[in-house]
Amino acid sequence: MFRLRRTRKKVRSALQNIDLQQALERASTHHLRQFKANEPRIKWSELKLKAQEIRQKNLEKLPQLIEQFCSEARRSGAQIYWAETASEARNIIEKIIHQKKAKLVVKAKSMVSEEIELNSYLQQKGIKIIETDLGEWIVQLAGDRPSHITAPALHLTKEKMAELLKNKFHQDIPSQPEAIVEFARQNIRQAFSQAEIGLSGANFAVAETGSLLIISNEGNARLATSLPPVHIALLTLEKFVQTLEEAMTLTKALIFASSGNRMTAYVSLITGPSRTTDIEKQTIIGAHGPREVHIIILDNGRSSALQDKTLKQALTCFKCGGCLLVCPVFQAVGGHIYGGPIYPGGIGAVLTSITRSPQEALLAADLCADCKKCEDFCPMGVLTGEILLELKNRLPTTPEEKILSKFFRYSSLPKSAVKLGFQAQRLLKKNILSWLPPLVWLAEKKLPPLP
Ligand code: SF4
Repeated sequence: MFRLRRTRKKVRSALQNIDLQQALERASTHHLRQFKANEPRIKWSELKLKAQEIRQKNLEKLPQLIEQFCSEARRSGAQIYWAETASEARNIIEKIIHQKKAKLVVKAKSMVSEEIELNSYLQQKGIKIIETDLGEWIVQLAGDRPSHITAPALHLTKEKMAELLKNKFHQDIPSQPEAIVEFARQNIRQAFSQAEIGLSGANFAVAETGSLLIISNEGNARLATSLPPVHIALLTLEKFVQTLEEAMTLTKALIFASSGNRMTAYVSLITGPSRTTDIEKQTIIGAHGPREVHIIILDNGRSSALQDKTLKQALTCFKCGGCLLVCPVFQAVGGHIYGGPIYPGGIGAVLTSITRSPQEALLAADLCADCKKCEDFCPMGVLTGEILLELKNRLPTTPEEKILSKFFRYSSLPKSAVKLGFQAQRLLKKNILSWLPPLVWLAEKKLPPLP
């Protein structure tokens, strides 16, 4: 019950935060508009089914895929490491940085690096690390954490971003997206060529070629992985696919689900360090790009999740973040409150349960309204609401929580209540239903019309 009270307090403060409400509303409106505009141009249902099939098939043969990937990647000159835990991954990265006597690391967006809390760890060791994805850079400057998987600064309006930059750089920046982007470009650009190490994640790892596939729009992932002399890639074990063709199908699905676009500006394939065969056809490692590529494969609870029928399906999630933007709870309170300490939203809570502990995932389970909007949207068919309820039922609860949990598990009332809520905004705005813990977020939110 204390947990529920604490939750209610946080929710109320998020609902009263006008800037947050504005940022959330703008982001979900833009995403929906883009998605709807392009949906007729893409065979979305067909693509989703294909992507699901690929993901499920590959999860069944992960050990073979990883083995094949490692042998192909080594053949192309990459060095491979295996990390059981977040702490092992951090130690491997620190060791490479020390071996290279590196002082500056530039980082392309990587939620896995957030998962292992790399930035704070390296900073404590006196190593400077600069985020180069615009949203991540803003979040880093704010001393904050990402509130969305693919749009880390989604909780901030352009006005708040300009204000933050003004405070940090003592310079007036107009609160126009173009001006903010230009300022970031000027500030981050030099770091790419000064850094001794570029660090990235990977969206997929292709077993047949030993390649990493990285999707980006800004171009920062290309610069971070090709300008510094050393590239470290951090990826998790569910990212492996058999063929390049499969990787491209998943890439198309991921891009559309996350942005409503048919393609991003860049899709990079990295197969080992840079090299040339221009002198007598001899292969010389280290041309214009990195001379070394280090690939760290992180487990962090995923092997155990593969043995668990409920959690296994969550490993098909390719982190498009689309489910968050259709979730009424996320739209109401944002990803800093709804989700785990690293990964936001309902799926974030599930990932928290896998990578940290089920207890830490409980807050999201409390807030989930079981409306199933995330499940309807998810291109991978992940039943996030179902998984959250199952996780909650597994944990020891107080008698009051047991009653509430049974009520929400077996009654169709919660879903009806959400629908009713949408139709009765005025009543809800008067706080009449706000005593119901899982529905507290509805109390003061300006709700969108039901589809
Ligand atoms: S659960 Fe589905 S919609 Fe949500 S991030 Fe994962 S793949 Fe995307």
